Amino acid sequence: MLGSCELCKREGVRLTEHHLIPREEGGAHLDTAMLCQPCHKQIHNLYTNQELAIRLDTIERLQDDEKIKKFLKWIKKQPATRAVKMKKSNERKGKKR
Ligand SMILES: [Zn+2]
Ligand SMILES: [Zn+2]
Repeated sequence: MLGSCELCKREGVRLTEHHLIPREEGGAHLDTAMLCQPCHKQIHNLYTNQELAIRLDTIERLQDDEKIKKFLKWIKKQPATRAVKMKKSNERKGKKR
């Protein structure tokens, strides 16, 4: 599904569904946001499920967090049509998202 990412606001990106309160923290049936893959990955790289559930449970709060702000500044300059190269550091741990 293509659309605009709620976090970085780029348009024409492939979207994935993010549970604002992670399923592991009881958010399975609560609000979700549609995010592009780089944003979604970055959120889960930067924050634990507990942090997301407790203090980053809205898009506004996420956008206001210092850690993600730097990333957003960068990602906004990346073209939506090309896959963005991401650091693979957390990939191999087999973390469930
Ligand atoms: Zn995005
Ligand atoms: Zn997510």
